[in-house]
Amino acid sequence: MSTSLPTLLTFPNGRELTVPTGLFIDNKFVPSIEGATIQSINPVTEEVLAVVSSATAKDIDIAVASSRHAFRTVWGRNIPGVERGKLLNRLADLMERDTDPLGDLEALDNGKSAEVARAVDLPEAIACLRYYAGWSDKIFGQTIEVDDKGHKSASTRIEPLGVCAQIIPWNYTIMMLAWKIGPALAAGCTVILKPSELTPLPALKLAELVVEAGFPPGVFNCVPSFGDVGGAALTSHLDVDKVAFTGSTATGRKIMQAAALSNLKKVTLELGGKSPHIIFASANLKEGPRSCESCHWGVFLNQGQDCVAGTRLYVQAKVYDAFIEELLHSAKEWTAGYGDPFAEGALGGPLVSEVQRDKVAAYVDSARAEGASIVYGGERWQGKGWYYLPTIIGDVTPTMKVVKEEIFGPVLVVTKFETEEEVIALANDSTYGLGAGFHSNDANQCQRVLARLEAGTVWVNQYGQLYPQVPFGGYKQSGMGRELGTYALENYTQVKSVLWDYSGGSAQ
Ligand code: ADP
Repeated sequence: MSTSLPTLLTFPNGRELTVPTGLFIDNKFVPSIEGATIQSINPVTEEVLAVVSSATAKDIDIAVASSRHAFRTVWGRNIPGVERGKLLNRLADLMERDTDPLGDLEALDNGKSAEVARAVDLPEAIACLRYYAGWSDKIFGQTIEVDDKGHKSASTRIEPLGVCAQIIPWNYTIMMLAWKIGPALAAGCTVILKPSELTPLPALKLAELVVEAGFPPGVFNCVPSFGDVGGAALTSHLDVDKVAFTGSTATGRKIMQAAALSNLKKVTLELGGKSPHIIFASANLKEGPRSCESCHWGVFLNQGQDCVAGTRLYVQAKVYDAFIEELLHSAKEWTAGYGDPFAEGALGGPLVSEVQRDKVAAYVDSARAEGASIVYGGERWQGKGWYYLPTIIGDVTPTMKVVKEEIFGPVLVVTKFETEEEVIALANDSTYGLGAGFHSNDANQCQRVLARLEAGTVWVNQYGQLYPQVPFGGYKQSGMGRELGTYALENYTQVKSVLWDYSGGSAQ
């Protein structure tokens, strides 16, 4: 029997928190009509944390009708941008107030470090909402001169797209939610958010804050569900105007297909990656530790469950041995930080699910079978929890599965290279193009390399930093469209051209 009653959770640090378990539609938590449920599981204990209602097609119809009604009556063109901005800022204020419980909940549901969730995930999500709150009343069109002997004019209006389905993954629930709802709500769209079936709890807890902030019913609905049920119902729905998706490339393909076969809803996709991270000999070797740190943060943060993880490391031959020695040294520090996500100073915990852990283990086994060497790690941890050790793999060739495919785990593959030309070819030899990073202290080399890397984001002498002001998205099969920055607003608006004749004569 599906429920919508809150569940009391007790955290390893003694915190107690009630979390809603219903579908969030029209500012209320309601059970699924057909009684479908999801079990949200703690990846550390492998025990059920909460049983949450799961949307099926009938619930999706209700959520879409609610969103459409809100769009036509209380949102979209019915509320000034400045008011939308105030509501987004209020939501950000409430998230700031509740940073610790929300961060802890994200860690409990996902297995990531609670300290990192509180210190990084939450502040970044809050900053994103504030950034888009500021844009809410700054979305306007143009006045355009036309050749009309002074009797005609033209202008554009930037109007909200309408009802938007937003489907997010499990690796950064609150951050991905903010990236999605920030520009959509600022632009005047209504949102139906589908969190991952693996981590529905942070999004539901946040829905309580949406009510407290004062958003009208139906502006933000949240429907936990399995991808091939609620997700598929949303992407093929005839009254959804747009779907924004973050997740795997395989699912991205299905979403485009569903959109094309239904009502040609607009689609933006932020998909997988296999991002290269290059250490040139021209990098200041005194900065070795800093570059190593950036390699590790780039691949071991969030247990490597990160679409821009810098998973392919290329080190120039001249500095290879020294760099690898330093890399192994700091890998040990990362390993010491993996464990209980609620321990002080925790850097990582288990992977999100058994399926994900086994997938990672299978990739490392494939590398062994293909003749690569496991330089570091390469093991599950025994005992409870879906842990996998930070792993570094050497002696790889460009055709190995671990070099070609996205692993989504704490696995770094290392390749030695000789020349700049060679490494650019290796780095670009991928169907993905989400991120790329390199370290060099040679300004001319930096200019050459950043221009030639085929990636939506290039980090120079750092890796992985993201800002709400800076667009983010993929080249090649890493996605379509950009999130963040002003570019994301374009995903949620459409342009209406208005042509006027004010001569008093008849229209031509
Ligand atoms: P992963 O395989 O890493 O879990 P997915 O891309 O499958 O990543 O999942 C990301 C999000 O996409 C989740 O919210 C999931 O429920 C959703 N999803 C999965 N399959 C579909 C589908 N066919 N249609 C719509 N959404 C889906």
